Amino acid sequence: MTDTAVSFSKEEFKKKVVSNCKSLYRKNIDEADKQQVFQSVAYAVKDLIIDKWIATHKTYDKEDPKVVYYMSMEFLMGRALGNNMINLTKYNEIKEALEELGLDINVIEDQEPDAALGNGGLGRLAACFLDSLATLEYPAYGCGIRYKYGMFKQEIKDGYQVEVPDNWLKDGNPFEIKRSEYKYEVKFGGYVRSYRDEASGRDIFVQEDYRSVIAVPYDLPVIGYGNNTVNSLRIWDAEPVNTFNLSSFDKGDYQKAIEEENLAKNIVEVLYPNDNHYAGKELRLKQQYFFVSASVQRAVDRYKSMHNGDVRKLYEKVTFQLNDTHPTVAVAELMRILMDENGLEWDEAWDITTKTVAYTNHTIMAEALEKWPIELFSRLLPRIYQIVEEINRRFVEEIKAKYPGDQEKVRKMAVIYDGQVKMAHLAICAGYSVNGVAKLHTEILEKQELKDFYEMMPEKFNNKTNGITQRRFLLHANPLLADWITDKIGDGWITDLKQLEKLLVYVNDEKARQEFMQIKHKNKVRLAKYIKEHNGIDVNPDSIFDVQVKRLHEYKRQLLNILHIMYLYNEIKKNPDMDIVPRTFIFGAKAAAGYKIAKQTIKLINNVAEVINNDESINGKIKVVFIENYRVSNAEIIFAAADVSEQISTASKEASGTGNMKFMLNGAMTLGTMDGANVEIVQEVGADNAVIFGLSSDEVIRYENEGGYDPMEIFNNDQDIREVLMELINGKYSKEDPEMFRDIYNSLLNTQEGRRADTYFILKDFCSYADAQKKIDERYRDEKSWAKTVMINSFKAGKFSSDRTIEEYATEIWKLTKTPVKVQ
Ligand SMILES: *Cc1c(COP(=O)(O)O)cnc(C)c1O
Repeated sequence: MTDTAVSFSKEEFKKKVVSNCKSLYRKNIDEADKQQVFQSVAYAVKDLIIDKWIATHKTYDKEDPKVVYYMSMEFLMGRALGNNMINLTKYNEIKEALEELGLDINVIEDQEPDAALGNGGLGRLAACFLDSLATLEYPAYGCGIRYKYGMFKQEIKDGYQVEVPDNWLKDGNPFEIKRSEYKYEVKFGGYVRSYRDEASGRDIFVQEDYRSVIAVPYDLPVIGYGNNTVNSLRIWDAEPVNTFNLSSFDKGDYQKAIEEENLAKNIVEVLYPNDNHYAGKELRLKQQYFFVSASVQRAVDRYKSMHNGDVRKLYEKVTFQLNDTHPTVAVAELMRILMDENGLEWDEAWDITTKTVAYTNHTIMAEALEKWPIELFSRLLPRIYQIVEEINRRFVEEIKAKYPGDQEKVRKMAVIYDGQVKMAHLAICAGYSVNGVAKLHTEILEKQELKDFYEMMPEKFNNKTNGITQRRFLLHANPLLADWITDKIGDGWITDLKQLEKLLVYVNDEKARQEFMQIKHKNKVRLAKYIKEHNGIDVNPDSIFDVQVKRLHEYKRQLLNILHIMYLYNEIKKNPDMDIVPRTFIFGAKAAAGYKIAKQTIKLINNVAEVINNDESINGKIKVVFIENYRVSNAEIIFAAADVSEQISTASKEASGTGNMKFMLNGAMTLGTMDGANVEIVQEVGADNAVIFGLSSDEVIRYENEGGYDPMEIFNNDQDIREVLMELINGKYSKEDPEMFRDIYNSLLNTQEGRRADTYFILKDFCSYADAQKKIDERYRDEKSWAKTVMINSFKAGKFSSDRTIEEYATEIWKLTKTPVKVQ
């Protein structure tokens, strides 16, 4: 491990906490409220970071290594304090210092709002990647938006989801630093005036009559574990060009001043709460161009300041990774900066751009593909649109040259077609790398979704299976298991997760198995306490904790899970003596605010919970809990406590999944379909150590190509399923309104508005899922074998560290060099 030059003195740290409290709040620490204590502690921790942060950027300026800019609309960071303490390798020391001040670290950590600048997996992946980049000593910036309101807070009222704004900055963010010196103007609208410059003979393009905002960055520290690297997450705030003043009123620009003030205020106001869904909103495109333009301008300026103002070898030192198509305007923005602001010709600018930009694909689902109407795109970004048009013109020429007379190829691959700008096509045609996020997903891209692109440019395509950081999802989330592991094999696993395999010898050791399961039990007690405090429900820590936590989406099939619970409840009622292992079904999920059927599913889960949990006749054999406001901070408690990990998406729909990896790492058995990274999880642990069910992705794709299947056949022939479906519309779970779940019922049985009945094969997979659930029950009864299985799951999770993923990106795509930092 790299020497951590900054020394830590407990006494000095205590003094700092006390003096921070005085200077911030004019209070002694024992008079401060919890939030004030948190702030005082966070500023003291920031002081431990700052010299490393400065040294890191001095090193990068001096050694001039290649830098990756990870461009993402979302960074789902969660809380910073605990993880910063961990990555400084000072968690226990600080915890003790605080104890000596009479303070409880857990209470203090609980005061910090989650930085929830993301929806789900895609945003959390970006956060894990930053942690791994810093830990592996790679030069990197995260580039994103400083949303004033992050992912909404979810409250459950009367079983319904209610969205509450997330005012995460209301008490200030102690870790951020405003960097006004790096502000940039970003222009929207107006028109492009062009003329020929006689002196140079070049065409000049000038955007006129535009509205603009000033992008101002805030930096957050991203600390490497046990080293001196502190990279930055740079998130951009928007400010008006001229704060509203009388002089613009005098000039008759009153209207313009107001508009620019509103533009700045609106642009960073709120994160769109859609996961895997394109809504086509104008403000969203504004957000995209806003942070991309500012980030690219800054990256080019930094490069030029270090290379005599010459941009022509930008690609040697800069690479932009696009986290999905959301930041794809970066392609055209870089072209604009190279040509319009640095005087390069098209061919030279294109050569640089196509060596600088790389793209990660996150989904194959049609409703998630970004296709902007030309009218909107060209009105908002007139110069950018001109450039995209020219990219398209040249690309279509290329397609025609390669496939003469094949108009079908043009239709399927053009960047602009049918009145729309297709962002994925732009990213693929300009990117030097196109990667999927799990083996199966990349195969589907190559063989199906992006087949034409793959045939034309196979060298661009590659796979980078997702990963998660063990620093947050084991070391911080599960201290009991982390300590047990370190006792047995040392702490090397913290930066080399494959070392967990050394623990495999213990799966045959009775004492170790008992210890492992005792830790699981304690973590279940911790979650039970959380559920009691937050939901008021008593759950039994001796029952199987069967958990599905993830965004609410039809393809993730929370509906399959709850329909099976309804079925199981019917079975228990019919056979009161039925011998089953007590089970607690735990859900956690936010639904996009406008996603009706998803919200109805939340209501269904809560109503089923209400009926089952209050039926004393079943003796607590099953319980159902919906945990409110699922987010990173409570996720950490949930993963540590799970016995069963529900990963039941319709095969082919989940690109990778990362929740599956967090569960596995913490010793849960996967109950899942052969989808996304589940395939690779099964490959690692062996088929005996997971329970797999359902259609394969090939089968799903075959049915889809045939126009679906007929769910009525199942409805008519399977009594148990029919009974469950009828309960959706007979008021059993909605006495006040029997029609409440009619949409769900219809979605399963009827073709509607061009949508196939049971689009996600819920009824088709139902029996296979019920069998799999039975297998879980049987497997859990054999204590010894269950312990072995979940231990193997944990100890074989090494592949799924984001450290492995980032090493692959860094060496195979970005070509980065590790750049250790010295603090003098
Ligand atoms: C890991 C994670 C996700 C992604 O979960 P999936 O099951 O892969 O969809 C979403 N939200 C939070 C808070 C997470 O920690």
